[in-house]
Amino acid sequence: MAFQHDAMGPGGPVGSPVPGVPRGITRRALLGAAASSVVASSALARALQRAGSESLDGVSLVVAQHELRTDRLRLRDLRRAQGVDGAVTPFVLVGVTAPGGLAVDEEHTGWVRTRGADGWSEWMPLVFAPSERPDGDEAAGGAPLTSQPLWVGWSDAVEIEVPGAIDGTADVHLLRETPRVLGWHGNEVPASSTRAPQPLIQSRESWSARDFKGTPQIASELKMAIVHHTVNRNGYAAGEVAGMIAAIQRYHMDSNGWSDIGYNFVVDRFGRAWDARQGGTHNAVIGGHAYGHNTATTGIAVLGDHQAAWPSGSAVEAVTALAAWKLDLHGCDVAAPVWYSSPATGKSGTYQRIIGHRDVGAAGGGTSCPGQYLYPQLGAIRAEAHMRQLGLEDIPLSSIYAEAVAWMVRADITTGTGSPPRFRPLDVVSRGQMALFLWRLMGQPLEVVPHGFLDVPPGSFYDDAVRWLAGAGITGGTGPGRFGPADDVTRAQMVSFLHRLAGEPGDNPAHGFGDVPAGAYYEEAVRWAKAHGITGGNTEGLFDPRRGVSRGQTALFMHRLASRKAAWATGADTPPSARF
Ligand SMILES: [Zn+2]
Repeated sequence: MAFQHDAMGPGGPVGSPVPGVPRGITRRALLGAAASSVVASSALARALQRAGSESLDGVSLVVAQHELRTDRLRLRDLRRAQGVDGAVTPFVLVGVTAPGGLAVDEEHTGWVRTRGADGWSEWMPLVFAPSERPDGDEAAGGAPLTSQPLWVGWSDAVEIEVPGAIDGTADVHLLRETPRVLGWHGNEVPASSTRAPQPLIQSRESWSARDFKGTPQIASELKMAIVHHTVNRNGYAAGEVAGMIAAIQRYHMDSNGWSDIGYNFVVDRFGRAWDARQGGTHNAVIGGHAYGHNTATTGIAVLGDHQAAWPSGSAVEAVTALAAWKLDLHGCDVAAPVWYSSPATGKSGTYQRIIGHRDVGAAGGGTSCPGQYLYPQLGAIRAEAHMRQLGLEDIPLSSIYAEAVAWMVRADITTGTGSPPRFRPLDVVSRGQMALFLWRLMGQPLEVVPHGFLDVPPGSFYDDAVRWLAGAGITGGTGPGRFGPADDVTRAQMVSFLHRLAGEPGDNPAHGFGDVPAGAYYEEAVRWAKAHGITGGNTEGLFDPRRGVSRGQTALFMHRLASRKAAWATGADTPPSARF
């Protein structure tokens, strides 16, 4: 293969004339291989599919090592389609790099079609998305302007229309591969303790990953998942996926000059998740997928073009399962939006935990990624991921209790009630449940002094909790020797419990409620709760002290208390799960 071959010399076009050339395209290149190679290479394509014929239950798969080589062709002053017979060795992936460069908020689209065993393909978009890249020095060595890698499957000719934004010369990168079956590999990612179950993740060995160049960098935390599409042909076969990921890695490393594949995970249309950038399954490895937003995020790329077609249900399910588990692993509630500030772009804001690449593009989006058919599904993906993190199906993401209950679940304050477990937010909370919630909130402190309540049986689910509550002076019971574990908790009792738990901070302003008698045992607690926004009273502006408190309201009260440092007395013990 002639390096920097000037493919644009005079010569007849290869293949049939081009019908329906997309408009707005200024230059085009056509490169072809000798027709005699088609037959032999079709056999190769079939061998490739056989070599990578995964069992789709994902338990194990045959690994094909893809020996990849990149051929570069230099296109200069392109005008019309011209081709050179035999100029191209059959290849599986196309990309274009050029000097110059675009601002990160600009996206341009060229067009590509390739000739495979069945003839010429449809025209496919070749996306130049400058924001789909690493931050900092990692991208410094590569070409300033690079298209995303377009995996096309076995092909022996290519025709390219570059966007008008590209001036002068461009390099066309054609990746070819030689599959070689190595053996069987299972999924070797270790299990982890999360509520959302860990999905099966195909290992890097399963797609013959090259090692990271240098050492992967790990962020101190993970805040959100960013979903992409790879803008590849949608009709790929299951056996081709390993080769596709390997080819994308090759392009990212050798053509773009990155350290590894940019994405942390790849998901295919068959619903399989693949470990992509090295070290990222259990760590917050800094990716190379969303410029300015690679730190503290994980990049999940769906293989396919979802500007052109809907993602498969299996792919959506795989993104959901992967995001729910990965965010859970790093302590992120899908219900709790998060503040993110980009040091690279200065852009900051509050984001959902699972977003699309376009949400963090520069002003105006800057990219259509992850495509018009995948992006609208992110809401449903978030809702389902939230439910899996909770394990409680009666607290949907749209519930006003969603964030508070998610926090309670993560802080081990509740696991729901009944079987299968539900939170039952409208049920009035019992004193036994309340004791358990408060005790767990404070990290289940040990108290050995007996509580002395005759209606709290030893070994009951709230026994330890009531012993601690009595020892800490938070409850004195409802009568001699009586705790009343099955009694409803009233709003007056609730604010009293919380006020005592917080160390009884005094000097609170007037509460303004007309139904709280002066001198009532809960009066100071109501002033405190109102002052710190833990309660605002009911819709009529009354406190309603004798009304029972629901489990959902309990979640809100506790979550607010755990979120407001000023509500706690100086020196008081604060919850381990406090959010301040
Ligand atoms: Zn993207």
